[in-house]
Amino acid sequence: MTGPGPGLAGALELIADVPDFPSPGILFKDITPLLADHTALREVVDALAAPARDSGGAPVVDKVLGMESRGFILGAPVALALGVGFVPVRKGGKLPRETFEVSYTLEYGEATLEVHRDALRPGDRVLLVDDVLATGGTARATVDLVEQCGASVHGVAVLMELGFLPGREQLGDLPVTTLLTV
Ligand code: AMP
Repeated sequence: MTGPGPGLAGALELIADVPDFPSPGILFKDITPLLADHTALREVVDALAAPARDSGGAPVVDKVLGMESRGFILGAPVALALGVGFVPVRKGGKLPRETFEVSYTLEYGEATLEVHRDALRPGDRVLLVDDVLATGGTARATVDLVEQCGASVHGVAVLMELGFLPGREQLGDLPVTTLLTV
């Protein structure tokens, strides 16, 4: 049986396109085959962590933030690889203690993201991790949450960017690392 080629390119080949999920016209990027392959997962985690290292390999961030829910799956191992802590950014109403929150507009309706108020300290530098940068609404809202905490975003690292959507424009001058543009 022929598997994916070696390295990051082979890992990214494992992402499956699912047309019309969860609604007609959406091409869903399913990362579960990539997650299920240990070598591919390692390649992707290392590549997402890279922008948060200095030239000697030392981490230049204090925390990794992952956005619910695939940002949890990728962000937690990125944090471990860097040797820093992980902070979940959750959908509204899920976190048990005092939060900061940001509401933003989706194609249909509104969404709210929250982070615990004490998750970051003023002056902390953070890396944001998610699977897909699409419209950029999720990433923008997360940047706003980080700023409410008095912390700053070092960069945004995503597995893939939907190049036909203006996601980056939402993020101003922030460095965005994307392993694949589709
Ligand atoms: P956005 O806020 O529009 O940038 O959307 C980003 C969030 O929606 C990410 O957390 C993704 O997990 C999810 N997402 C958006 N578009 C897709 C897609 N085509 N396939 C899979 N996930 C997507």
